[in-house]
Amino acid sequence: MGRVIEACRDAIATEENRLCDLDRAIGDGDHGTNMRRGLEALASERQRLSAMPFAEAMIAAGTILVMNIGGAAGPLYGTLLLEIGKGLSIDGLEFPQVFQKAVTAVAQRGRSSPGDKTLLDVLYPLSDELTKHTHPQRLAGKVQGFADMTIEMKALRGRASFLGERSVGHMDPGAASCALLAATVCRELTEAGVA
Ligand code: ADP
Ligand code: MG
Repeated sequence: MGRVIEACRDAIATEENRLCDLDRAIGDGDHGTNMRRGLEALASERQRLSAMPFAEAMIAAGTILVMNIGGAAGPLYGTLLLEIGKGLSIDGLEFPQVFQKAVTAVAQRGRSSPGDKTLLDVLYPLSDELTKHTHPQRLAGKVQGFADMTIEMKALRGRASFLGERSVGHMDPGAASCALLAATVCRELTEAGVA
């Protein structure tokens, strides 16, 4: 787990400026900085997290993200991990089902739906692919396409929604960070031979 966290932190640090630029176009320009702060906090706790049972580590990681990403995205990313941790603690649920339930919880938390031009436009198709048992290596190559789909969408939630039609033509920053993190996790799992 430590290696995956480090890879996510590095990916976000590398793309911090691009994520801020995306947020500058349709928000307030802080998304890259928010995400870097969150991932750095997570990375500084990676040893403690790695020593925990996986479900517990996801709950602890979710709490770290809520406290450190901030903004609108913090509670949403935090909810995703917290709910994955909770779902994994329920007997008999497979990971794709757990992920699907967690994505539904994120949508409830944000009072948003797919098509609203948010990170959910990456999480929902990602959840569908997990249900189809798409190999992580293939998934890593697909997720950026989900974020690209937000370019033509009109924002209905978050700061970008204040722009109405003027939000069309820009990629959603949360969708971009979500695709980046998902691709990074998939690549790490493939390299580690876990999947
Ligand atoms: P803030 O908007 O508070 O500055 P960030 O810039 O860190 O927070 O995050 C913005 C991202 O959060 C958006 O690009 C979008 O993907 C996501 N987001 C914002 N509001 C919502 C919501 N209600 N539901 C789902 N996602 C949202
Ligand atoms: Mg912002």
